[in-house]
Amino acid sequence: MVCADGYNAGVDPVNYAARVLSAGPICDHCLGQQFARLGHGLTGRDRGRLLRGQASHRVPYGVRGGLPCWVCGNTFDRVENWAARALEAVDAYAFGTFLFGVRLSPRLEATQEHLSRTFPSPWAEPIRREINRCLGRAFEKLLARQGRSATVDFTRPDVRFTVDLEQETVELQVASVCFTGRYRKLVRGIPQTHWPCRTCGGRGCETCKGSGKQYPESVEELIVPTLVNACRGSGGHLHGAGREDVDARMLGRGRPFVVEILEPKRRTIDLSEVADAVHRAAEGRVEVAEMAPAHPETIEHIKNASADKRYRMRVNFERPVAEDALSRALAELLGQIQQRTPTRVRHRRADLVRERTVHTATGELLSPKAAEIEVHCGGGLYVKELISGDDEATQPNLSALLGVHARVTELDVLEVLDSTA
Ligand SMILES: [Zn+2]
Ligand SMILES: [Zn+2]
Repeated sequence: MVCADGYNAGVDPVNYAARVLSAGPICDHCLGQQFARLGHGLTGRDRGRLLRGQASHRVPYGVRGGLPCWVCGNTFDRVENWAARALEAVDAYAFGTFLFGVRLSPRLEATQEHLSRTFPSPWAEPIRREINRCLGRAFEKLLARQGRSATVDFTRPDVRFTVDLEQETVELQVASVCFTGRYRKLVRGIPQTHWPCRTCGGRGCETCKGSGKQYPESVEELIVPTLVNACRGSGGHLHGAGREDVDARMLGRGRPFVVEILEPKRRTIDLSEVADAVHRAAEGRVEVAEMAPAHPETIEHIKNASADKRYRMRVNFERPVAEDALSRALAELLGQIQQRTPTRVRHRRADLVRERTVHTATGELLSPKAAEIEVHCGGGLYVKELISGDDEATQPNLSALLGVHARVTELDVLEVLDSTA
């Protein structure tokens, strides 16, 4: 390969090293990085040292020793210090994997750029990689001295350190830890996640008695704090696989969820103890089951899940209805439903007509003006509107089929039929 200055780099690394060495004092790391892709099983520093030895007799003024490296200003001398500071920062946290990153100073960016422009090398790697490697190795050594160990993870480390060479700071980022489970909501009137007060928007007012909340508690608030405590995290969120209405119960095996705990100091916890603590705190309003550690990708997975559901509803009719008329109307609900975004959620969801499916619909009269109805349907169907018709925004609907206005007065999700159900 012929480089910009006409120097044939493919021929002789020693010759190349000699030219770099002639340009000014350079440390073994920075020299070695120019040959990073040459040969295996050597550290950057070893590589630099080797080439320096081989090239030194070709350098006109000898290899100047003792002077600071013109590329990095002896950045590598400070690696152990940064590793020690990283260890200090992460002292309270449990982790199994880590990763170092580095923010180069503008000066080092410039000198590195100058080095690669003046001496283009086909084997060079960015200096940041060598700094990261050295930081990682120094960190592992310090950990080992404490009888601990951790491995580098490039994609999803438990803890991530960013060393800022300009600011001389070490930042710690702790990855969230996630747990899946299923929740049952055994009472009505509890939203899944906390709702800011409609009057004050969450600041706290007379209506909400200063709480800033529309409802005093939520499924999230009955589950998450226990997990935050167990993990000694800084906070957390609950992500549900869909959500039932505030006034609906969630029965059966419950609804799948993922809880994400932020900045956890512990990543492994006793989940049966957590379930017990949730049950003690929720006093029968909410239960959790099937809890397990989860990959963070499960959050997106669960949010996008669209599982079949089975619902049970108490329905009131405006006028008396006959049993056989109800059966006929329910039979006609089966199949495709065209559902426009319900009026009650149009302020927060795109106004579209969506196609949904009713698999089964059965029911019986409790009185001439009330019935209990069960519906098994595909994900995403607003079942209250399937009954009411929502001003004809859902077609077909039970009210239109009966010719009598019908309204859901009580709703239970009997089962969320996701793939594990
Ligand atoms: Zn250097
Ligand atoms: Zn308020």
